[in-house]
Amino acid sequence: MTFRLTYATMFNPPEAMHERFDAAMAKVEAGLGARHELFIDGEDRAAKRHAQRRSPIDSELLLGEFALADEADVDVAMKAAKAAWPAWRALPVAERARLVRKVGDLMEQRVYEIAAALTLEVGKNRMEALGEAQETVDFFHHYADDFERHAGYENELPNDPLEGTVSRNRSVMRPHGVWVVIAPFNFPLALAGGPVAAALVTGNTVVCKAASDTPWSGRLLADCIRDAGLPPGVFNYVSGSGREVGEALAHHPLTAGITFTGSVGVGMQLLRQMASGAWPRPCIAEMGGKNPCIVTEHADLERAAAGIVRSAFGMGGQKCSALSRLYVHESVADELAAKVMEKIDAVRIGDARRREHWLGPVINEGAYGNYANYVQLLRAGGAKVLSGGEQLREDGLARGWYVEPVLAEADLSHPLWKQEMFLPIVMMHRYHDREEAMRLANDTDMGLTAGFYGGADEVPWFQEHIEAGVTYANRPQGATTGAWPGYQPFGGWKGSGSTGKAIASFYYLQQYLREQSRTVVE
Ligand code: GLU
Repeated sequence: MTFRLTYATMFNPPEAMHERFDAAMAKVEAGLGARHELFIDGEDRAAKRHAQRRSPIDSELLLGEFALADEADVDVAMKAAKAAWPAWRALPVAERARLVRKVGDLMEQRVYEIAAALTLEVGKNRMEALGEAQETVDFFHHYADDFERHAGYENELPNDPLEGTVSRNRSVMRPHGVWVVIAPFNFPLALAGGPVAAALVTGNTVVCKAASDTPWSGRLLADCIRDAGLPPGVFNYVSGSGREVGEALAHHPLTAGITFTGSVGVGMQLLRQMASGAWPRPCIAEMGGKNPCIVTEHADLERAAAGIVRSAFGMGGQKCSALSRLYVHESVADELAAKVMEKIDAVRIGDARRREHWLGPVINEGAYGNYANYVQLLRAGGAKVLSGGEQLREDGLARGWYVEPVLAEADLSHPLWKQEMFLPIVMMHRYHDREEAMRLANDTDMGLTAGFYGGADEVPWFQEHIEAGVTYANRPQGATTGAWPGYQPFGGWKGSGSTGKAIASFYYLQQYLREQSRTVVE
């Protein structure tokens, strides 16, 4: 029996779900250390070089050896994708949708094993890992259903009779060609799988690259696609360094479009790259966040504290959607801070394989070092660190990159109000009137998610004025995080997203298509 993860089970998982996860973890751990190759043109392709990867949970834990693609591998993958494109795009909508749906079905059968791998590779807790694996399954199903329901987004248009002839008019949506998907480390399966499903069902072929920290999850996605029986070359998978493999993909002459999720710096560079050359090519860039939450004097503070802790510290703040700026009405700031700190004290940090640990490690030594620097910068800039601030790695005992959640009260002039940290650090400011809070919340180049806790009659004001693509009001399950396909379309405004069309929304798939007007005179 599979236990399908839902919102309800995410927050109150049945015992059997834990048992299944533990069994899957034991099975996955027994297979650690294997070599994982590239997947190109329907088969494994041995790379010239490989890198050993260890778990952020414990540096002694060897995950395996992972292929490092080079420019020649990228070229082979791109050519395979191009060769497979004409037959793939010619398949009827229902047939492509069937195959894409089948990938989701297969992944669903493996959801516990995949989640165990995500815990080991990224260090996320089991519920976050199961959440990501199930979200990816849902992306495959959602996009297949969506494309089929809209009959490929094609339209019959009115005929126009002219000079004794009749023009039959239609609008059809055609794919672009070889679509490149570049995934981030924090959701290595969902933010690879979602765009891959979208690109495939719309008739593009794909070359997908994993983040350099997370080659394993991408390879598990490739296995599901292979086993679902997609024709060779339709999906290709490469792992390796961003600089070498990412650059090679972005500059490849066969790249017809890109979906990128990652930093603003790289995203803007890709957008410029895709706008250069003989013609502009589409680039869907989902970039960073510096997400605010406003708490008014009318808020349910218990609910607010629960949502704040989940969104600021879940997965160590390593989500584009993580909460990092907190604006609290001065009359309730002390009480809210006390509630948040109480919840921080209850957070159990440690080996993410164990069910009692809610907070696992940060991704790598670099992030661990950044944490110490940011805490030091906060203090140097006069911020009061109300909670946390310690690094917790101990050789021999906890050889992972563990850090404490930080709540800090900082002056508005502090430079870290403007910088995405991607760590479990939230900064707080006491505001006097709510217009000031809104002005501060919007005073950023980003616009991904935003949270609000206050009176029901204040919610429309928040929604009307906040500059963010994803908004949540009075939500205890997360102030700014936790969008689910089919329920919360997810996409950023301003520097957070290049197209203003959200993941899993009504508009998403159309971005992978170009319109062709077809007029035939009888
Ligand atoms: N979809 C995730 C959420 O809603 C975040 C994805 C991301 O951080 O990139 O929390």
